[in-house]
Amino acid sequence: MWSTIFQKLITGSIIIGSTAVDFNNVTITNPTSVDNFLQNDSSATKKAASSTMTYGRFLDYLDMGWIKRVDLYDNSRSAIVEASSPELGNRPQLIKVEIPAGTSQLILKLKEANVDFDAHPVEDNSLTISFLSNVIIPILFIGGLIYLFQNSENLPGNMGQTPMNLGKSPARFQRKPDTGILFKDIAGIDEAKSEFEEVVSFLKYPEKYTIVGAKIPKGILLVGPPGTGKTLLAKAIANEADVPFFNVAGSEFVEMFIGIGAARVRDLFKKASDNAPCIVFIDEIDAVGRERGAGVGGGNDEREQTLNQLLTEMDGFKENKGVIVVGATNRVDILDSALLRPGRFDRQVTVGLPDRFGRAAILKVHARNKPLSDDVSLDQLANRTPGFSGADLANLLNEAAILATRYKKPVIGRKEVNEAADRIISGIAGTPLEDTKNKRLIAYHEVGHAIMGSVLQSHDEVEKVTLVPRGSAKGLTWFTPEEDQNLISRSELLARIITTLGGRAAEQVIFGTPEVTTGASSDLQQVTNLARQMVTRFGMSNIGPIALEDENTGQVFLGGGIVQGSEFTSNNADRISEEVRKIINYCENKAIEIILDNRIVIDLIVDELMDAETIDGAEFRQLLSLYTTLPNKKMPYASKLINL
Ligand code: ADP
Ligand code: ZN
Repeated sequence: MWSTIFQKLITGSIIIGSTAVDFNNVTITNPTSVDNFLQNDSSATKKAASSTMTYGRFLDYLDMGWIKRVDLYDNSRSAIVEASSPELGNRPQLIKVEIPAGTSQLILKLKEANVDFDAHPVEDNSLTISFLSNVIIPILFIGGLIYLFQNSENLPGNMGQTPMNLGKSPARFQRKPDTGILFKDIAGIDEAKSEFEEVVSFLKYPEKYTIVGAKIPKGILLVGPPGTGKTLLAKAIANEADVPFFNVAGSEFVEMFIGIGAARVRDLFKKASDNAPCIVFIDEIDAVGRERGAGVGGGNDEREQTLNQLLTEMDGFKENKGVIVVGATNRVDILDSALLRPGRFDRQVTVGLPDRFGRAAILKVHARNKPLSDDVSLDQLANRTPGFSGADLANLLNEAAILATRYKKPVIGRKEVNEAADRIISGIAGTPLEDTKNKRLIAYHEVGHAIMGSVLQSHDEVEKVTLVPRGSAKGLTWFTPEEDQNLISRSELLARIITTLGGRAAEQVIFGTPEVTTGASSDLQQVTNLARQMVTRFGMSNIGPIALEDENTGQVFLGGGIVQGSEFTSNNADRISEEVRKIINYCENKAIEIILDNRIVIDLIVDELMDAETIDGAEFRQLLSLYTTLPNKKMPYASKLINL
């Protein structure tokens, strides 16, 4: 077994070892008072009017252009109008009007006069009630049952949803953004931050911009993997600008009834413009914004309607009105291009995984309220954690704090921090095996990995070798990545494959083919994966520089078309397998050669490891160099011997 760091680098995504999933995650998201909008919003309830007027008078007012807005209630039998006239002292007032039956022309009139109006259904204000009661009541009840049933399972986000308010936006709303997040709490993503500082300045001093005719974008799209601080950024703008904050996930618009998602979008934007200036944050916007007509099995009417509604709403509100929509996604490539047009999400801000310096900065932010002992170096920790997102780093320090508490220590020490990192990467430590043949085999396997890494020039240095099991791994060899690598060379890839194969090679050379174990299965998976990518994505085989597969191997590419189209034929599949096999064979031979050449030193280190159970990198290198200076022995080891 082996740490999954390599895979992380290769795919560019964070794959923290699968074992980390079962793991008792304790995050430190602030339990701020995020109220459900539905309970919080007064504008959705029937307005209170202080006076009344007759219908005739109301029509006069309408003709005079004194009516600003009309809210119809009780099947258009009554209305609350907002009017302002000289008689009323030119102050807008809410007035109740009883409407006689049979005035179906009213709506037309209101339209003609260009008056803002809205019809509210009886009792409940749900936008969809009247539509539902006419057409799909039976479906609704069946659906309602399913819906409630689903609700009872978990999904805190959906809590309190009843079929009666399906059409309401599920957005969580904070009128006074008490998110507690300020720009200073966000680190490592400086470009995105400065982009957003401008938005804050606009929300605070809009005149400064409007006076020179500047248009502030209505929509900003944050693009980046989960946990990199996208939500955090949106919260920070709301907080810094002191404007209300709406927070909703795209998936919350995705419903099984046609029209519900669209109604929710409408509802959300209505509430937003009632509360302008404000920030509307839509997380995972790809859930609604996916390209129309794509995906498995053709289109999806409900989703398309929802998306269309979103597009309409974004067009509908004017620039500089103060509603700023912030969307977040990891997959900008699958978004409908209409969403990215000017006037919608016309500004894109990429929020990537932090680099070494970014990680150190983020760690510093999260270490602020934690007592760290002097032996903890956050910079060193940042070096150890490539591929970690801001959320992973926050989690790491939290874990360390919990461990310190468990060990009854007043401060968090180096030991706890390292332990927390190990846990997050590869799971919780177990107890080492008793001294058995199995343990010896595992020791050879791990030292096999470590020795490869040590003699191959293009490989990272050994950080430690351990027989303490972690997660599903019985032993682990850790390597220290030199730096963040975005570009990986062919020889580095080969070195990785050889190193990964080193464990099995050691088993084979030392114990013989009949004795090899299943322990290398995940190693082999990684090896195959790497070699395959070399052939199909990186053009590093005899097939030449041709991309044969999309990143999402073999899957229907949701952004449009199917990857395995023209270039990918069954003929190609055979050639790919052949090239993959060639690479792996070459690497396997190299690995066996290295084991044979270093047999003596391997035996020595294994003995040491059986005793100590963990050998760190420095010790490991010392053992190697010690051995090479011994007289009368073959001298197999010279630092970074083999150059591929
Ligand atoms: P996203 O929205 O990108 O999935 P979040 O903004 O929800 O990620 O981040 C989750 C948590 O991770 C935050 O609450 C914060 O504790 C931590 N975090 C993520 N990115 C950063 C960052 N750049 N600086 C500081 N903390 C961060
Ligand atoms: Zn292994």
